[in-house]
Amino acid sequence: MKTANPPFPPLSGQELPHAGPKFRPNLSTSHDGAYQNPPAKTQAEVIQILRDFYEGLFPKTCANCGRVFATLQEYVLASQRLWPSLNYDMELGNYNTPHPIGGLAMANCPCGSTLALSTKTMPLPRAHMIMAWIKAEMERRGMKHAELSDYLRDEVRKQILVEPTRKAATGLKGLRVHKHRS
Ligand SMILES: [Zn+2]
Repeated sequence: MKTANPPFPPLSGQELPHAGPKFRPNLSTSHDGAYQNPPAKTQAEVIQILRDFYEGLFPKTCANCGRVFATLQEYVLASQRLWPSLNYDMELGNYNTPHPIGGLAMANCPCGSTLALSTKTMPLPRAHMIMAWIKAEMERRGMKHAELSDYLRDEVRKQILVEPTRKAATGLKGLRVHKHRS
């Protein structure tokens, strides 16, 4: 049988210039709960993306005492978690901003200095995907964005904490001088 066309034509580069009013899906963010495009990713996928991203931020050095955290696991084990997680984009309602300020997950170094893992450098599609997931789940679960950020972060921590301790040197070719990159 011949069914109706999908509600929206697949996006392609050619259609983009004309995709304005005509094909605009109902992405209303009003409080009618009508999300037309629910995030496709599952919670497990979102957690995995966050974890992979955080892993990539290491090694990380405490600017105060010079301690080097070779891996995310070492960091989670040695530092003290601070909460709530901060995210200025979501605080401002900018879930789809092309220039995310990013989120901050903070923790105290054993020296007492506060360290932060920032999602500022996360590739845009992934940052948007995670924020879209959080936005949808906020409504579904009746939680605040910071609570969901903390929840995701704690799920990453849980995964890491049950894993055997890994030696940081694996795969690293000797010591590298840590430099700030911007
Ligand atoms: Zn320190």
